Amino acid sequence: MVKARKQVVLNHFKGVPKREDFKLVEEELPPLKDGEILVKAEWISVDPYQRAYNTQIGVPYDQFGFQVGKVEDSKNDDYPIGTKVVTHKGWKDYFITTPAVTTNMTDIIYKLPDLQGLSESLGVGAVGMPGATAYFGFLEICKPKAGETVVVSGAAGAVGSLVGQIAKIKGCKVIGFAGSDDKVQWLEKELGFDKAINYKTADVLKELQEAAPKGVDCYFDNVGGELSSVIISQINLFGRVSVCGSISSYNDDVNKLPKATIIQPSLVFKQLKVEGFLVSRWTERWPEAFKQLIEWIKVGQLKAREHITEGYDHVFDAFIGMLAGENLGKAVVKV
Ligand code: NAP
Repeated sequence: MVKARKQVVLNHFKGVPKREDFKLVEEELPPLKDGEILVKAEWISVDPYQRAYNTQIGVPYDQFGFQVGKVEDSKNDDYPIGTKVVTHKGWKDYFITTPAVTTNMTDIIYKLPDLQGLSESLGVGAVGMPGATAYFGFLEICKPKAGETVVVSGAAGAVGSLVGQIAKIKGCKVIGFAGSDDKVQWLEKELGFDKAINYKTADVLKELQEAAPKGVDCYFDNVGGELSSVIISQINLFGRVSVCGSISSYNDDVNKLPKATIIQPSLVFKQLKVEGFLVSRWTERWPEAFKQLIEWIKVGQLKAREHITEGYDHVFDAFIGMLAGENLGKAVVKV
């Protein structure tokens, strides 16, 4: 008998999620039936959408999210013991599942790509959902051309740090916004951003105009809010905006969302294309992104930094820390 632990979300969060909003539930798992596998989690992901979706679904629910796990027992010939899998089973240390071919996020399961010796944690990061988000969300929607100026917000995070580096690989000039001087240093010194700006302390408009004297061509928006309104006001004719997320408002009351300067004049006069997306649009093509991302990491063109929290007991702290901006790169929990 295996004793399994999971985190159940009890409430619709009010403001920053609280420990009391979660309940640790322990259960004995039954013996496997034909077709089933027993998975032990090795890397659990904490992500902003775990906050954002909370208000859209009924409670209680098992906390969902991506994780990399190892098949510990199997009654499924396609998934023998030892197979590494990526699933969306969330904050569970052990679970039983019946693998099926599906693009439905709840039941998605796929074998961890061959990471060629890189850390398997990348399966929930640069070679997982966030990697696919950066790859398709930027390349398919912004369609960047060499020489163009690209702005990324949330630039030091999992998705943003990859988008900026992909933009550099594509020959663009890259400006990133992030929330601390350490992050700014890292983006400029380690990741090769042309300019990084601390949105918490800078005169954002002035510094952006100085950094992008010829204006902005593409904006990859992770944060929304007033920062995005300012950036959009600096976009050139026929510029593109890829709207990936709006983390600046995830902890706000959905019935009283903050207001920001209207962007419609820029959209009209500059004839901008603004497109939101969910990375699930390209689920069938994720392997294509993973192949390229692994190649870029292996040759040193892409740095996949991680912010690792140790221990299943600390998954909540890792989640709150990520929302508060403690992470450089991808926030992940080593079980
Ligand atoms: P992340 O950037 O690694 O972590 C979240 C970061 O958000 C924090 O480190 C913090 O950095 C920043 N942040 C927190 N509060 C903020 C605020 N009030 N204003 C501005 N920034 C704030 O997370 P991620 O996984 O890469 O996700 C980034 C964005 O992409 C999120 O909006 C997420 O929802 C979105 N996303 C969308 C899809 C999709 O399919 N559309 C898929 C994945 C992710 P600072 O220190 O810089 O503030």
